[in-house]
Amino acid sequence: MINKWKNKSEFWIAGAKLADTVTRTLKAGSIHIKRGRIEEIVWKKSVDTDLPVFDAEGYLVTPGFIDIHSHLREPGYEESETVATGTAAAAAGGYTSVVCMANTDPAVDDPSVVRYLMDKNKAAGQCRLYVTGAVTKGLEGRDISEFHLLKEAGIVALSDDGKFVENAKVMRSALEYARMLELPIVSHCEDPSLARGGLMNEGYYSTKLGLSGIPAESEEIAVARDISLAELTGCRLHIAHVSTSGSVQLIKDAKKKGVPVTAEVTPHHLTMDDSMLEDYDRNLKVNPPLRTQQDIKALKKALKNGTIDCIATDHAPHNEISKQVEFNFAPPGMIGLQTAFSHLYTELVMSGDLELIDLVRLMTSAPAEVLGLAGGTLNSTEPADLTVIDIDEEWTFNGEVNKSKSMNTPLADRKFKGRVKGIFLAGKWKRTG
Ligand SMILES: [Zn+2]
Repeated sequence: MINKWKNKSEFWIAGAKLADTVTRTLKAGSIHIKRGRIEEIVWKKSVDTDLPVFDAEGYLVTPGFIDIHSHLREPGYEESETVATGTAAAAAGGYTSVVCMANTDPAVDDPSVVRYLMDKNKAAGQCRLYVTGAVTKGLEGRDISEFHLLKEAGIVALSDDGKFVENAKVMRSALEYARMLELPIVSHCEDPSLARGGLMNEGYYSTKLGLSGIPAESEEIAVARDISLAELTGCRLHIAHVSTSGSVQLIKDAKKKGVPVTAEVTPHHLTMDDSMLEDYDRNLKVNPPLRTQQDIKALKKALKNGTIDCIATDHAPHNEISKQVEFNFAPPGMIGLQTAFSHLYTELVMSGDLELIDLVRLMTSAPAEVLGLAGGTLNSTEPADLTVIDIDEEWTFNGEVNKSKSMNTPLADRKFKGRVKGIFLAGKWKRTG
């Protein structure tokens, strides 16, 4: 049935298991969609109706996934990704909303770039796009961008992601300015004086492999500084891609004190450790680096107890040529939008580490709350953005199904369970799997 569905303005989705992240329930239900919005939900498998019915029997229907940390590489690095290809990969991964980062060329430090990205996304029509503005002009860490003009153009957050704002005074001013405009700042926490030249996590394996290391303290010093500046200024601070147990502790303490801080973790930092670099796979080179099993344990625990608020992909495409160099010179980052759900379902839910409803929540309502975005729930006040999943289907991620322009991932040819079949974007069905 889902193969043959022709879009209608009013219909029911029936027979599915629904994931309601607000009440934390996973049960049979039917959704009435009218003109792009959820009109009504009945918690029954079938409905008596004259309207057309999208038969979702056997599928899981969740709120549309939201990724608050993606690199779409446009403008400037279109050989690795574009808004069109990146959002196509996102839709195939079940995402109905994506937040793109500002480290493009030119950087998103001017309203014209924000508008350019939004126009590109409108033309592509794959999913919703939210834009992050640069904290500093050209991401150079010196002069703060015109936040109010960027906000008028529609940005939802500020970040120099990819780089740490090294100068504490610049960061303080940025937080003060952002607070006035009620914009959160997303911080890439990494003290470059400790991280520079590092290729992987500093520890047993970096010594064994003879690769220069990046100590956990490089991240933790930066997290501590930014938490203290968030406390000073009262600005909402979001810590991107948390990777160490020490960072988790700092965030936990800050939250206890009432500092307005939130945090995210990537799928790869939850599932891969530094021992895996033994075969020098360039696709495992990421920033921050893959850490240890103990860090992974702390990250999982932090997800469960709410210290870490949500999961974000840090989708970072690099084309084949730029990764076909020695490990030392390969740019850090891996793609992740298309595999995030299946990867985490297979590794964390099937192993019993995480409940399915919590995985869904961490990819929907939780990220929406962090940045104050629409959607992420089955609420009738939101547009009908939904993700349809066959939780039992086994599939393999490879170059044939990949929608991104890049294929830099250690998950190539990996078999997963749980496949996204498509999304509803404002009630419009788009089959993807
Ligand atoms: Zn990033």
